Amino acid sequence: MKPYIVVEWNDTETEAKGWLCIHNLIKGYCSGGLRMHPNVSKQEVMKLAEGMAYKYTAAGSTDIGGHKSGIAYDYKKPDAFAVLRRFMIAMRPYISMGIDVGDDLGTKYDDIMKVLNEFGLGVPITKAQSHDVDFVKRKKAYEVFYLTARDEEFVFDTLSNAITGFGVAYAVDEAHKIKEGKKDARVVIQGFGAVGTSCAFKLHQLGYQIVGIADANMLVSCKNGLDVERLINGVNQFGEMDEKTFETSYKVHQNTKWLDIDCDILVPAAIENAINSGNADKVKAGLIVEGANIPVSNKADQILHHRGVALVPDFLANMGCIRMVDRLLFGHIEMDVQEVNRDIESICRKNTRIVLEKWISTKKFSRDIAKEIFKPTIQDIYPV
Ligand code: NAD
Repeated sequence: MKPYIVVEWNDTETEAKGWLCIHNLIKGYCSGGLRMHPNVSKQEVMKLAEGMAYKYTAAGSTDIGGHKSGIAYDYKKPDAFAVLRRFMIAMRPYISMGIDVGDDLGTKYDDIMKVLNEFGLGVPITKAQSHDVDFVKRKKAYEVFYLTARDEEFVFDTLSNAITGFGVAYAVDEAHKIKEGKKDARVVIQGFGAVGTSCAFKLHQLGYQIVGIADANMLVSCKNGLDVERLINGVNQFGEMDEKTFETSYKVHQNTKWLDIDCDILVPAAIENAINSGNADKVKAGLIVEGANIPVSNKADQILHHRGVALVPDFLANMGCIRMVDRLLFGHIEMDVQEVNRDIESICRKNTRIVLEKWISTKKFSRDIAKEIFKPTIQDIYPV
């Protein structure tokens, strides 16, 4: 299926460019994040939108198509919010038609909500949804839940920030058990933002040792395991670690050295193409679980497949938040923190098991297996 709509934008005040891509619509509705990063490209946004369509299919959604937007601009610049706002104003006709825009790499949900509230929209919905009294009531409750519910341990600001990383950790645990038949292992994580921190936290809870973490500035390692909670307490709003929270036994390296650390499992949870044709042969781990979207390039896929490395693709591993949105907004489960956590654990483990068991029995590459099973097939032209 080709992308249904791709819209390009040029900022009037800066050099920023942006794209909105709707991969598919279901009953006129789709959802996905808006990212901001200097290297964002049209191809990347299209690939990410396609990934969202796979993700909703894998999440069992029958109500949401895949969308992604991206702005090529430095999210740390002081005018980053003004650029984000101008992009959203330009895309308002699509957003108000019912494209749900969430946060993503380099953007914050609060900022996106600020603009949506300025539009008088709140979380965008379609005209048909706005005429459904039960849906509107549920959406109101969901908006409050999304912004205020917290994880059971109260470590993270919101459950929505933590649930994706938790799901990634469940996928790691399931995949490792299937592959090695045991539980404990050493993990290296690239990225210590929303996904990286919550994944590290849950993995630590599940008994894994986090032996390396890379952020935008550095890589920290310790062969006896890092104190994850302490590192999380020191992290700033950009997902950057604070060296003051490091123990003397920790080693600090350039972040590009993250594949040099001995480990059993890699979780790339930061940027796209982090594992590519130039470094895929350096991977020491036998298992990669994609916390980020498209962190492994197509060429790296081939290298890893030939080397027998197992992989859990992004659209299975990092579906936590979107599955939560689907289940709550469309009334499949109660707005309850424990129930959301149970649901995410169950689906992330189930999908991982289906794909990795087939990987073992067929020797096909696991991403190809997952793409066959969870291929999105719906694209409807819904009346406005
Ligand atoms: P974030 O902005 O909260 O954190 C990004 C992290 O990546 C930060 O720790 C940053 O320092 C680090 N980073 C940036 N450049 C790096 C580099 N060159 N080397 C190492 N680390 C680097 O982002 P996030 O929300 O955690 O998202 C991370 C990835 O996960 C993105 O691909 C995003 O699309 C994907 N994702 C996020 C969610 C979610 O719920 N937040 C859901 C699904 C997928």
